[in-house]
Amino acid sequence: MRAVLVFAVLLGLTHAARAETEADRWNLADLYATPAAWTADAEKLAAQFTGFAGCKGHLGDSAARFRQCIELRYDMQKRYYRLAVYSSEALAADTSVAASLALDQRADLLGNKLGEADAFFDPEVLALGKARIDALLAADPALSIYRFPLDRILRAAPHTLDTEGESLIASFGQMNDAGQSTYTILTNADMPWPTIKLADGKDLKLDAVGYEQGRESANRDDRKRVMDAFFGTYKSFERTMGVTFYSQLKQAAVYAKVRKYPDSISASLDRNAIPVAVFDTLIAQTNANLPTLHRYFRLRAKMLGISDMHYYDIYPPLVHGDFKFPYAEGRKLVLEAVAPLGKEYVDALRHGLDSRWMDTYPRPHKDGGAHMAGYAYDVHPYVLMNYSDNYESMTTVAHEWGHAMHSYLANRAQPFATANYATFVAEIASTFNEELLLDRMLKAAKTDDEKLFYLGTALEGLRGTFFRQAMFAEFERNVHARVDKGESLTGEDLTKTYCDILKRYHGAAEGVVAIDDIDCVEWAYIPHFYTGFYVYQYATSIAASSLFAQRVMANEPGALAKYMTMLKAGGSNYPYDLVKAAGVDLATPAPYLALVARMNSIMDQMEAILAKRK
Ligand SMILES: [Zn+2]
Repeated sequence: MRAVLVFAVLLGLTHAARAETEADRWNLADLYATPAAWTADAEKLAAQFTGFAGCKGHLGDSAARFRQCIELRYDMQKRYYRLAVYSSEALAADTSVAASLALDQRADLLGNKLGEADAFFDPEVLALGKARIDALLAADPALSIYRFPLDRILRAAPHTLDTEGESLIASFGQMNDAGQSTYTILTNADMPWPTIKLADGKDLKLDAVGYEQGRESANRDDRKRVMDAFFGTYKSFERTMGVTFYSQLKQAAVYAKVRKYPDSISASLDRNAIPVAVFDTLIAQTNANLPTLHRYFRLRAKMLGISDMHYYDIYPPLVHGDFKFPYAEGRKLVLEAVAPLGKEYVDALRHGLDSRWMDTYPRPHKDGGAHMAGYAYDVHPYVLMNYSDNYESMTTVAHEWGHAMHSYLANRAQPFATANYATFVAEIASTFNEELLLDRMLKAAKTDDEKLFYLGTALEGLRGTFFRQAMFAEFERNVHARVDKGESLTGEDLTKTYCDILKRYHGAAEGVVAIDDIDCVEWAYIPHFYTGFYVYQYATSIAASSLFAQRVMANEPGALAKYMTMLKAGGSNYPYDLVKAAGVDLATPAPYLALVARMNSIMDQMEAILAKRK
């Protein structure tokens, strides 16, 4: 387990030879000056486990004892995060170094031991109960910073069984995730991925990576054959895939039932107190605004010069742009782009960029993609990039530094116990910055081609991040609800359900995009369905950031201050409430309408350019 959570995007990377300077490499010595310092801190953590074991059964003894124990608890977590950021990022920077792998494995073991040492804490807080916890908090004002994390534990009280019940649930936990494990092994190791010959005579092996590459082909016949062959492989495993996913759905239903939730979605969203109304509003608003998605598909068909748009025509880029952004230029543009966020934000970002918080360029043996690790509370966030001088790289810098600044601001404003924010708010900070960058680029664009390229890229991002994720969310809602009610589902049933939703979203009946039968097995290809009710957050986040950005860029009074307050709030309250307090209620239509308006405005601009050309 890599316990350090990272916000990652995948990038196609190239290992271009490049003269790196020290300034291009992050400085992990800010975490630990030497490996010996890491080891010394790890030993300190191990000693803390022993001390913390003495807290078991004694949390409620007195306010003084409680404080000593809870401070120790968060100090252990903080220390562990710092150790884990160092080991995982050292490994990410060069996966070929055996010493880094050994360190990362040691950090994993420490993480497991931390989990074991901490296992008694939540049940004991629940057993003490709200009245006793309130009394302890009232006895010592210094404990008030723990009120929210304790409240989060206590909200599970109505869904916690007696000791015998909890021990039964724990023992059945060993059999969890059989469906997901089977799915992972099957898709990563055992599926017989086909190899096809492309029009240019090259062979392409259609595993997940080959598929993502092949579906973008400019050759229509190639991309049709890519999609048919890739989904065809899933189709031949439709029955098995159905069984593995159905077992996942049943597992969620059983847990919801024994934990006394009305259904799987309530059980899942309750952890962060997200109202189910958020999910329902997302789906309702997405359906109400499908004409905007259909407008996009019609525009895409026109730009590709296709009269009978098919599902395999979704991925080739609309506009080919070979615009180069060497890092120095990208950095300058990103800094200019975030100017609407104010001096504090811009200064913090410049400081981070100047201080070797980022590992910038691709290298052999370095982790691919991009991610941000913001968990080293007393140090600073780290950003891993594989910068390759293109627009996508620059956008990724804006995105990942959106996460980094969120962590930086929250870590400075919050005590450790309430600094870490939930996924539900995380992608707001990153997509907001992408939006600012688009605005900056459109203002600077010198040619219509350049403008079309930025607009087309943004449009495709909105389709993938909003509409596609909302479509997945609707599918999840549907199939979980049916299994909650005791219905059984086969692979064939799942394909039929997915097909109906896929056709509706793509306007198949209105002749917008034709969906072929083979496309309808796509559900089996989406690994996220094994993390139930997760992907909807990408859609809600980008809707929220659309409304925030609209207000901030329009200089609406108080809008920027509220947004900054939300970033600095970290994890000090439930995420839905934090976003709502900043003025965006995700259980109402407003943010979704802002996103749709943005998409339409982008298409207006593109159509104006295209009309001029005629
Ligand atoms: Zn992100």
